[in-house]
Amino acid sequence: MASLRLEIVTPDQIVLSTDVDYVGAPGVDGEFGVLAGHIPLLTALSIGTLVYRTGNKDNYVFVAGGFFEVADNKISILAQAAELAENIDVERAEKAKARAEERLQQAKQQDGIDVARAEHAMKRALMRLQTARK
Ligand code: ATP
Repeated sequence: MASLRLEIVTPDQIVLSTDVDYVGAPGVDGEFGVLAGHIPLLTALSIGTLVYRTGNKDNYVFVAGGFFEVADNKISILAQAAELAENIDVERAEKAKARAEERLQQAKQQDGIDVARAEHAMKRALMRLQTARK
């Protein structure tokens, strides 16, 4: 079978560049999977966990939205932020979750809180924690 290349890039760094057998990603319209030989595709990612399989091993990566492109057996992901599961700072994510919880509580009694922003921060924190636990 033809090999499939996976590259994950953020504005700061190349997070991953490796050959894989399969990738499962959190699309804005739901989870989807890509194998070698996939037709060209360009889609948007949501905040969630990406899985890539090499042999029998599943590996997990947190992605915070961005673009997912498949062309010529290469997957290129440009994400706002992305971290390999083993590089996620769990304590930092717990603190981000607590801050977001506090803001969402405040929003119930006080105007001027950006609820959508707090909800996004909460989703990033929860998905980082979920990815790190895999
Ligand atoms: P925080 O409030 O802790 O900064 P955040 O969700 O606002 O969290 P992002 O804007 O998504 O952070 O990311 C900013 C940068 O910090 C990115 O480079 C991202 O990879 C990194 N980052 C954020 N949280 C973590 C974490 N828990 N572990 C590892 N890297 C993180």
